[in-house]
Amino acid sequence: MDSSCKEENGNPVNSSWVHGPIIVGAGPSGLAVAACLKQNGVPSLILERSQCIASLWQERTYDRLKLHLPKQFCELPFLSFPENFPKYPTKHQFISYMESYARHFSVEPIFKKAVETAEFDHVMQFWRVRTHDSEYCSRWLIVATGENADSVIPAIQGIEKFRGPVIHTSVYKSGSEFKNQRVLVVGCGNSGMEVSLDLCRNNAIPYMVVRNSVHILPREMFGISTFSITMELLKWLPLRLVDKFLLLVANFTLGNTERLGLRRPKTGPIELKNATGKTPVLDVGALSQIKSGKIKVMEGVREITETGAKFMDGQEKEFDSIILATGYKSNVPIWLKGTGFFTKDGMPKTPFPNGWKGGNGLYTVGFTRRGLLGTSSDAINIAGDIAEQWRIL
Ligand SMILES: Cc1cc2nc3c(=O)[nH]c(=O)nc-3n(C[C@H](O)[C@H](O)[C@H](O)COP(=O)(O)OP(=O)(O)OC[C@H]3O[C@@H](n4cnc5c(N)ncnc54)[C@H](O)[C@@H]3O)c2cc1C
Repeated sequence: MDSSCKEENGNPVNSSWVHGPIIVGAGPSGLAVAACLKQNGVPSLILERSQCIASLWQERTYDRLKLHLPKQFCELPFLSFPENFPKYPTKHQFISYMESYARHFSVEPIFKKAVETAEFDHVMQFWRVRTHDSEYCSRWLIVATGENADSVIPAIQGIEKFRGPVIHTSVYKSGSEFKNQRVLVVGCGNSGMEVSLDLCRNNAIPYMVVRNSVHILPREMFGISTFSITMELLKWLPLRLVDKFLLLVANFTLGNTERLGLRRPKTGPIELKNATGKTPVLDVGALSQIKSGKIKVMEGVREITETGAKFMDGQEKEFDSIILATGYKSNVPIWLKGTGFFTKDGMPKTPFPNGWKGGNGLYTVGFTRRGLLGTSSDAINIAGDIAEQWRIL
């Protein structure tokens, strides 16, 4: 990095030229692309807003979390999980894998550097990336801030009146903090289901709000992960036929979920995932707690009161706490300026597998809605593409 000091609007700005790409974000995607670049002989610089790598996993996930997909689908390029890891590694095992991955490839992000703006300078033909105290310049910018950068907090009528705690799942750690409490869990995706299950196991009383339709699939079918089966079938059969098969097996093994208040969408699970990014819930035990009545399914909330909630079906209940399992969103529109490459929701406009490359040396990794498998594919593509340019410099 070459440094100089510039004045702008009377304020001094530390400005550095970065040899190689600037990567924004030190999650699995940022680490994977830095490692792939290194394998191709290209240096890079990672700027990370938090104080650790994989901060989503270290700071914003609950204790009991395990990978949703089998480990072979969650490995990053050039380094496998240790053999003694189970099929579904725990969050702590995944973090230790990430730490050894960074060590193995000597990837050393700069921490506490939240990128506030990044913009292509058309006159100078390079990217200007700004943090609160510095400017970094490079020919290449790699966006690795993730599909889950910020929590989604919905506007629910009356929520500001509620006297108890209201938290998002990103700060939920364990159900032990909610023992004997009546807890309203808003949302029924993977997080809503798993948090409700964790609450149950810690003797809390969860009420899960299911406003929309949802596909629930068993995590495994015939002892094989549903994800593996789906990937294999998609090689041979049309998508709609695969969806029919998944729903047939799901109905056979889980029973009719509609009777439990969990309506299935009209579109099949994989078709829906491809069209909207909405992931089917992979059941890890919540459904049996719903069947036994330990997790109570509620229709949409009409209004939150000082002590509880009024529901669409006219019921009214008291609660001690509210947990918002309402998901995450990309933060790219907040800091990346003037590219036209992203939608207003911060996802690349070009769909997978071609969303990794924009114009003027802009790249994205980890925005495929395909988890870590998509990350690996993007990282390899980006490193190959930049390495070609690097060689002829
Ligand atoms: C509960 C949960 C379970 C999951 N389980 C799986 C699974 O089993 N398998 C799977 O494949 N995927 C899973 N995922 C998806 C998950 O998003 C990916 O596994 C993975 O974390 C994505 O990596 P990423 O690097 O793209 O994004 P992230 O892990 O979100 O990392 C992005 C990084 O960018 C940083 N950042 C954001 N904005 C800025 C900024 N302006 N400046 C500087 N730094 C910034 C963040 O602090 C963060 O460290 C799960 C997600 C969640 C929430």
